[in-house]
Amino acid sequence: MSLLVLKFGGTSVGSPDRIARVADRVLRLRGEGHSVVVVVSAMSGETDRLLTLAREIQPRSEGRELDVLLSTGEQVTIALLSMALEARGCPARSYTGGQVRILTDSVHNKARIRSIDAARVREDLEGGRVVVVAGFQGVDEAGSITTLGRGGSDTTAVALAAALTAAECRIYTDVDGVYTTDPRVAKNARRLERITFEEMLEMASLGSKVLQIRAVEFAGKYNVPLRVLSSFEEDPGTLITTEEGRMEQALVAGIAFNQNEAQLTIQGVPDQPGIAYGILGPIADAHIEVDMIVQNIGGDQTTDFTFTVNRNDFEKAMEVLQRVADELGARSVSGDTRIAKISVVGVGMRSHAGIASRMFKALARESINIRMISTSEIKISVVVDERYLELGVRTLHDAFELDQEPAGQSPS
Ligand code: ADP
Ligand code: ASP
Ligand code: MG
Repeated sequence: MSLLVLKFGGTSVGSPDRIARVADRVLRLRGEGHSVVVVVSAMSGETDRLLTLAREIQPRSEGRELDVLLSTGEQVTIALLSMALEARGCPARSYTGGQVRILTDSVHNKARIRSIDAARVREDLEGGRVVVVAGFQGVDEAGSITTLGRGGSDTTAVALAAALTAAECRIYTDVDGVYTTDPRVAKNARRLERITFEEMLEMASLGSKVLQIRAVEFAGKYNVPLRVLSSFEEDPGTLITTEEGRMEQALVAGIAFNQNEAQLTIQGVPDQPGIAYGILGPIADAHIEVDMIVQNIGGDQTTDFTFTVNRNDFEKAMEVLQRVADELGARSVSGDTRIAKISVVGVGMRSHAGIASRMFKALARESINIRMISTSEIKISVVVDERYLELGVRTLHDAFELDQEPAGQSPS
């Protein structure tokens, strides 16, 4: 009898009806001989609703009390699903993250899982029960409730699957798999049968929110077979796999985008050693993460320096940069929140030249101006004006013919 860990996202448990359908699916899988652990998210919109409530009390709410509040969303759905299972004659037991000892660090609102004590879950499974665990939450050493960052239920599921050495971790959601890009933006996006951990990790970290980054990291590290599939249809979905298991020979696996960054520029800084540190040091000291960085070659002994940060950190970063500019005697600082980053991702890029020029040519043909570029072994990212986000994504999707099955189906 194999063990499956199933995770159902917010839309999949968004109403009593949908919770009933989840229960029916669990029953079917039990009928096929699997033992089942289910991880659920809060009902769709609930985490946002709680966040809004918190902000009405305190606009900058964060930290411990916010976690106490946000974790309640998932406590509702574990109880409802367990009731639905019991109503169908299926023994079930619900647990909050803390109750199954999902131990995390104490970084509230984006805690990392350190360990899971799977003994209690195993006991229930041996007793023939379905175990229903609240996603997105844990408890720290001191016993305080923590949450794992938006989308964190994915990570709870993968971590449980790793701790229990489950046969598979299935992420049931409102799309039927991982697509070449967000199907909400490109209607002709194609579902991938498989994608490598490496590619999925890039896609997730570059903005595709279908899986939380840490869930992919965990699955890769502990070799958890991971699948994304629809909670409304019967379909095998997309398997996240190692490179050897990859059948498709595409150079580019997919396109990710991120609308959540902002750009800052400091102009006319004296061009001398230590300048990058002089600018980014204070930014790091303010706990602001920097993503892309561009320094222009100086002409008249001064230079311009541009970088991007998360949009939530924009105002804080502008304050720091203004201070730095005064200290360094820079000419001016400017900022722009209306930017978007678009990235093409694929392990095939490693062995092929010309991806970048194809990308730039396609964007040029649509007169989309590129503001910043960054590359790594398996991705190329550009920053463009936010207005061109959708056009840019569709243009690149077409330029790399991602709507079509890649030619040459032989395994690499
Ligand atoms: P859940 O609530 O089930 O966790 P999410 O909203 O977090 O669901 O993730 C699913 C959504 O991710 C889809 O509705 C889709 O719009 C979006 N998405 C972004 N990029 C992709 C992609 N490459 N493939 C599939 N879905 C994607
Ligand atoms: N409910 C949380 C969120 O909306 C966690 C999750 O759904 O994965 O981010
Ligand atoms: Mg999600």
